[in-house]
Amino acid sequence: MAAKPTSRLKKILGRIEGLDEGGLAGVLGLVERDRSLLDSLFNVLRDGVLVADTRGRIRFLNPAAGNLLGIRPDETGKIGLWQVLPDLARTLDMAPDGRWRAVASVTRELEVIYPARRVLRVALLPLGETSLEGETLAAVILTDLSNDLARSEERVEAGRTESVMDLAAGVAHELRNPLNAINIHLQLIGRHARRAEDSPAVRKMVEAADVCRREVARLDGIISNFLGAVKPSELVLRESDALGLLEETLTTVGPELADAGVHVEVRVPGERPPSVLADPDQLKQVFFNLLKNAREAMSAGGGSLTVQAGTDDEAVILVIADNGGGMTEAELSQLFTPYFTTKRGGTGLGMMIVQRILRAHGGSVGVDSKKGAGTVVTIRLPRKEKRVRMLA
Ligand code: ADP
Ligand code: MG
Repeated sequence: MAAKPTSRLKKILGRIEGLDEGGLAGVLGLVERDRSLLDSLFNVLRDGVLVADTRGRIRFLNPAAGNLLGIRPDETGKIGLWQVLPDLARTLDMAPDGRWRAVASVTRELEVIYPARRVLRVALLPLGETSLEGETLAAVILTDLSNDLARSEERVEAGRTESVMDLAAGVAHELRNPLNAINIHLQLIGRHARRAEDSPAVRKMVEAADVCRREVARLDGIISNFLGAVKPSELVLRESDALGLLEETLTTVGPELADAGVHVEVRVPGERPPSVLADPDQLKQVFFNLLKNAREAMSAGGGSLTVQAGTDDEAVILVIADNGGGMTEAELSQLFTPYFTTKRGGTGLGMMIVQRILRAHGGSVGVDSKKGAGTVVTIRLPRKEKRVRMLA
């Protein structure tokens, strides 16, 4: 496609001396039209495109390239390619005079930190015969990979969590069979003992068998709770009032919070958020886990817990903030890891379950925390009409 205007132009240029004023205006019109077509094309491209000579002088760049590399339009020609992508220069075969030998195309994935931390795929493609003021040119195509990477890392992490949970759920399930057998045999021991002649020794045996059975029942309860928590149960989606469910959970745990001296405030600055498609029981489990963590973080001498609700274009947003002990960066980075806990008797499963449930809803959970200052948990649930995106 690009070859056509050039060759047409070449033909006309060959005859340019013979052209009158009208003919010349026509040619300029054609040139202008082609140019503005290319301009608009480069302006709408999401990939960054720039043209540099082999010394690294930038001769042209589109707005996307300017954004990705932090170059203002008025800096074109003043900033060199090797300056903005020094890592690229390092990987190239440079001549002693700083020229790049423009013979082959080169593709690199580079991390840039200015104007934002991003991973870019940079493709450097020699433009062949095209030259400007005697300099050979190369096109540089910049593709922002950051989002793709973040998404695939998230997927890997979610997969890892799932498989740990599957394993744990499997083990817990397997424990039930021997427990059942133990239970039955304890019943038998009790029955035989009761039939035996009464004596202090027999009475002690009956008592011991009863203690064992109670402990077995307790173990069974622990396993049920654990399975209930980690086994991904099917979502039963209903039109739900997320804030309403959070308020219900607050009412349930209200007495406990009051006992711990925690002051609770619910703020809804705008209208109440619209309904979302969600599994109400599972959402309550999310809120319960978060409120429990907040309370545990504020154990010493009470504190204040603030719930805030809002909405943006995409999601219903619920924020739960506490001014408890907060987390160090190291703790924060482990927060969603199964079995990570800093509490005596903690399971380290609460936040992982929170994350799993919210992801299953197409939502997310974000946590900001500062040691000694407190923690802010932000939940996003896709608005009902936006769920198409999540399915895609
Ligand atoms: P558990 O509560 O059983 O420890 P969680 O997965 O709920 O497991 O939390 C993991 C860890 O994250 C906690 O042990 C605690 O160190 C930290 N944490 C979670 N929520 C908060 C909070 N609101 N404030 C401070 N630390 C928190
Ligand atoms: Mg917890």
